[in-house]
Amino acid sequence: MKKIQAIRGMNDLLPAQSGLWQYLENTVSDVLRRYAYQEIRFPVLEQTELFKRSIGEVTDIVEKEMYTFLDRNEESVTLRPEGTACCVRACEEHGLLYNQVQKLWYMGPMFRYEKPQKGRLRQFHQIGIEAFGMQGPDIDAEVIILTHRLWKELGVADAVTLQLNSLGTPEARATYREALVQFLSARKEQLDEDSQRRLGSNPLRILDSKNAATQALLAEAPRLSDYLDDESRAHFESLCLLLDAAGVTYEINTRLVRGLDYYSKTVFEWVTDKLGAQGTVCAGGRYDGLVEQLGGRPTPAVGCAMGVERLVLLLEALNVVPDAASQTPDVYIVAVGEVGAAALALAETLRDELPFMAVQLNCGGGSFKSQFKKADKSGASVALILGEDEVAARTVAVKYLRDGREQETIAWAALSDLLKAL
Ligand code: ATP
Ligand code: MG
Repeated sequence: MKKIQAIRGMNDLLPAQSGLWQYLENTVSDVLRRYAYQEIRFPVLEQTELFKRSIGEVTDIVEKEMYTFLDRNEESVTLRPEGTACCVRACEEHGLLYNQVQKLWYMGPMFRYEKPQKGRLRQFHQIGIEAFGMQGPDIDAEVIILTHRLWKELGVADAVTLQLNSLGTPEARATYREALVQFLSARKEQLDEDSQRRLGSNPLRILDSKNAATQALLAEAPRLSDYLDDESRAHFESLCLLLDAAGVTYEINTRLVRGLDYYSKTVFEWVTDKLGAQGTVCAGGRYDGLVEQLGGRPTPAVGCAMGVERLVLLLEALNVVPDAASQTPDVYIVAVGEVGAAALALAETLRDELPFMAVQLNCGGGSFKSQFKKADKSGASVALILGEDEVAARTVAVKYLRDGREQETIAWAALSDLLKAL
């Protein structure tokens, strides 16, 4: 019979990699805890309208990337392509934004129907951060400083650079949009096909076209930075000063626009050149209009999302994966003969006394030789050998698997101290 396979672009996370994911997730959640951000969880499925209204009808995501279907009740539902809209929906639904600020984070799978390739999947994972109710720019700076700290803790800070821009208010952007359309319309035949199409629908997205001819043309085009309103300009300058003071370096990239409609003022991306074309590991910005757009009271907000798969690839590319992420047991107990109860008890005692160690007990029997082979293969540094003689004497043989240290026999009572000292 033909075996059923996973859906293209949706990966399994196998044990060989899950330790690295846990390390990454734990490091991120610990940094977030230290900045007093709180976790929020929301469903993977939402009403389609939520994403149409927030991300924008003429964005890549809504036009061609969403997993949308009718449920059994004929309602249109969508697997979440990102978390910000869901987060706002949940906050509004539960009154979390009423007269208070919120600093929140979430992590989990997102779904986009894209062409699967390195760093680009159909089910991928994001860790998102959202701060509501603060005008900034101090909170914009905090979000960026937080991510910067995270890169340092993960050992990737030297491999990522921060790109920063301001999109201004929606009004400033509309004026700029007109100027850009006017400029590009007069040169339409020089634009790539995608950009020609976007000229009518979402002209700002042309700014981040990857096409060389289009990029060359854009060098002459009006610049968004010349169209910023005074308030956005002041906001951006203050943010830059705060980042300078915090020692976070950045490049101002006036063509950074981001693919979702809801951004205003600050936008940023952390980019690496170590992963090829999919080099953005974290992206975000300010979205002061979104809460109101979704039916809430006007609420300033800023946030960002990092791509977990890309961060994992970066950790591997830089070879900064700590040993602790390997999930190999520290101790392997070889249990030979009728020693089942004593072996389980010994393993439990070690787990009580050495909670930081992983203790693998050989279950399922087997000869001394075959168990010993498994102990070696497990990667454990120590094998404890327990046979009927040892149980009678309340001892265990300690065999060191990774160095030439001599085997020794030791009383159960002294075992924890010995292992602790390794
Ligand atoms: P890209 O330009 O790479 O398509 P995007 O602007 O669509 O990214 P965002 O919506 O800003 O991405 O999502 C934030 C982050 O989530 C990205 O910077 C990236 O790290 C990650 N990400 C986005 N789409 C995917 C995907 N299909 N597969 C893996 N990671 C992704
Ligand atoms: Mg995309």
